[in-house]
Amino acid sequence: MSKTLDLVIDLLKRQSNTPEDAGCQEAMIARLEPLGFKIERMRFGDVDNFYARLGTEPPLIVFAGHTDVVPTGPLDKWHTPPFEPTIVDGMLYARGAADMKTSLAAFVTSIEEFIAETPDFKGSIGLLVTSDEEGIAINGTVKVVEALKNRGEFIDYCVVGEPTSNKVVGDMIKNGRRGSLSGKLTVKGVQGHIAYPHLVKNPIHLVAPAIKDMVETVWDNGNEYFPPTSWQISNMNGGTGATNVVPGEVEILFNFRFCPELNGEGSTETNLKQRVHAILEHHVLDYDLVWEYSPPYITPRSNLVDAIEEAIQTAYGVMPELSTTGGTSDGRFIADICKQVIEFGPLNKTIHKLNECVGVADIEPLKETYKLTMQKLLK
Ligand SMILES: [Zn+2]
Repeated sequence: MSKTLDLVIDLLKRQSNTPEDAGCQEAMIARLEPLGFKIERMRFGDVDNFYARLGTEPPLIVFAGHTDVVPTGPLDKWHTPPFEPTIVDGMLYARGAADMKTSLAAFVTSIEEFIAETPDFKGSIGLLVTSDEEGIAINGTVKVVEALKNRGEFIDYCVVGEPTSNKVVGDMIKNGRRGSLSGKLTVKGVQGHIAYPHLVKNPIHLVAPAIKDMVETVWDNGNEYFPPTSWQISNMNGGTGATNVVPGEVEILFNFRFCPELNGEGSTETNLKQRVHAILEHHVLDYDLVWEYSPPYITPRSNLVDAIEEAIQTAYGVMPELSTTGGTSDGRFIADICKQVIEFGPLNKTIHKLNECVGVADIEPLKETYKLTMQKLLK
């Protein structure tokens, strides 16, 4: 059996339901310490994180990932128990197999091999591992990055092991993610009996034309790396449950997935907020609006993209596409101290689902990809 497969099976047996780490990080540390890595355990709140570094010289390449997994869902719907990794027909089944313990194991074994083969490599290697990516993500990567930033430690290249492959392993690298801007909008009216319309102000009727305007707005046209910004309502709640009462207010939760470079003045965040307020004010609404923001990031074509592209072609025989699709990832936090962040890992087809799995034959090439990337950047 391969060393990577051995290690991934060990990690998959540990029930690291977010934000639990369940000993995964210590299992990784036990392999890194003998290689000479300086280990810093950084526990924030109830979240285990660690940062490990070998070497003091630039360039610094950091592999980043998370040990926590999402809930299994109904156990009786799994063909095999989610924390008893099982190989059936060439597929390794377990919660976390694709998202993202295979990548974590491949980080460790690729580093072991790279160091054995190239003991006098140039630069430094790091690992940034959290157990708070799938949850609220406030005591994980963001805090470790803050600590590194405060002491002036910057990263040259970062590879996040998220499962980015789409149809076949190697077909997609994420070189950025859209930003996310959520709003909780409360529009106020006047509650009253439905039979006396002159005594009420129906907030649902009042907000309806504003919603139409937002749906029809073209926020931008995207750019070279990003699809156009989209605006969607996720929830709309109003009404007392009674059929004869006009509600006093309606609450609408909406979200932008946005491209970082909108035309116009100021940041994209400010620009989008101003345009939403302008629409609401145009319709003379009485409202409250609370925002929540998560930044985008982008890594333009660069030597990291080139290195991993070449590595993927050698290891998998596939030419990857650059993409910024999908949800947010910890890449957004790391981008604060690292100009080149990319994400590459297994197929995302079964992540967060029942019977999550990876192809056993895809595991060694993943280790190979990470190793070849180091060979190209640290010579
Ligand atoms: Zn993940």
